Amino acid sequence: MANLMYLPDWTVTDYEIDSDGAYRIPASYDVVPDHCAKCGAVGNLYKHGTKTTVYVDAPVHGRQTFIEVRRARYRCRDCGGTFMQDLPDMDDSRRMTVRCRDYIAQQALLKPNTHVADDVGVDEKIVRQIGKENAAVLLEDHAATIRARTLFGKRPGRVKKEKEAAEAARKTAMVQCDLCKALFEPVILEISHIRPISHGGSIDASNRQKVCPNCHRLHTEDWLKPVHDSTPLSEYPIIAPAAPRHRPRDKTPSPPRPARA
Ligand SMILES: [Zn+2]
Ligand SMILES: [Zn+2]
Repeated sequence: MANLMYLPDWTVTDYEIDSDGAYRIPASYDVVPDHCAKCGAVGNLYKHGTKTTVYVDAPVHGRQTFIEVRRARYRCRDCGGTFMQDLPDMDDSRRMTVRCRDYIAQQALLKPNTHVADDVGVDEKIVRQIGKENAAVLLEDHAATIRARTLFGKRPGRVKKEKEAAEAARKTAMVQCDLCKALFEPVILEISHIRPISHGGSIDASNRQKVCPNCHRLHTEDWLKPVHDSTPLSEYPIIAPAAPRHRPRDKTPSPPRPARA
């Protein structure tokens, strides 16, 4: 049955609002142990008084909430030992409900610890402690599923190999300029007509060449000369396809300079 605490198996008889505006809820837990916590003997227990302990709960209606638990003590007829009733809804080490601990853990991710402490009615140290514990659990979960790990974990040797492979692939993809014979990345090269269309060249593939921008410019300038001169084209001999003008990139060392006299 539902009670003011909304926890099953608890009996809440009453509540009051204290001078600080906090809820004070006297309550007791209805589950009776069936065996002795000391010796394990079953069914030989009797009630041996109660002890009232205050547990902090998560705030209710914006009020700090404290549960005054009348906790039963039992004595065992077999071993004579006494023990307190087990309270699975409570975090005994912190004197708070389990749900209050979870609430603090959640709130500590959103607000400063002191605000959470004020809301709940506990010391800021406790909020900090719970927040730390929760962060450790979250980090562990995160580390188990983090995807960037494989990237960060790559050995330097492997990175070097991959870089070399990429560089080799780039080099094999390079294309020669038909005029200067230097190597260029394919996107750099341009299509030029060996004999310009304006000079009667055909549009066939046989009249095309792949050239670098520099050779393209020199080649075009050659063919434009007659136009700039405003000399009739008929008076110009047909100019042969341009030979390379700029030095091709090669590795052969240039001859040593003659020593000055
Ligand atoms: Zn016992
Ligand atoms: Zn070129």
